[in-house]
Amino acid sequence: MILEQTLRGEIVRFGTMLYQKGLAHGSAGNLSVRLEDGSILVTPTNSSLGFLEPQRISKVSREGELLSGDPPSKEAFFHLAVYEQRPEARAVVHLHSTHSVAMSCLCHDDPADVLPPLTAYAVMRVGKLPLLPYFRPGDRKLAACVRSAAQDHRAMLLANHGPIVSGSSLAEAVFAYEELEEVAKLFFLTDGRKTSPLSAAAIAELNAVFGN
Ligand SMILES: [Zn+2]
Repeated sequence: MILEQTLRGEIVRFGTMLYQKGLAHGSAGNLSVRLEDGSILVTPTNSSLGFLEPQRISKVSREGELLSGDPPSKEAFFHLAVYEQRPEARAVVHLHSTHSVAMSCLCHDDPADVLPPLTAYAVMRVGKLPLLPYFRPGDRKLAACVRSAAQDHRAMLLANHGPIVSGSSLAEAVFAYEELEEVAKLFFLTDGRKTSPLSAAAIAELNAVFGN
């Protein structure tokens, strides 16, 4: 069992890293981890991921009630929706990083999967990326959409907003998020050129070998 204090430290360290890399700006974005008892630690509302303090991180029950720390992010409810559907998820990362948000503002032919399988790591770490409809920030109707998408996806993209990515640890969720942002960047770099995404057979092989 990982101590709560250790997890608080991890949230601070990964928050600082994501902020310094420019993947989080202002007070946008939030990180959470699930504790053994089902409650979560989540970054507070209006906090900058670059300047988090371990003891001020919000602790919230699985029903969304604040147990300790500062008031939680207004987006904590969709973190709880992911945890509810994915028993294996121990961490959730949600940021407004530039290239992923740009992807979320495009018209997509197939909202069931909007990330082209350009690299093996995109397939292994992110998998299929469904586009969820737009909701105004804080609209609880988003929770039902997230819950439904989380059944079969570790990552999803909120239209005109940004991605939600889960993992079995905070490190895994952050690395998957970074992979998603990089593939979104590659998508725009190769825009207008004829690309050669991985074939269905290559994707099936990755899923068979790496268990997606
Ligand atoms: Zn957001």
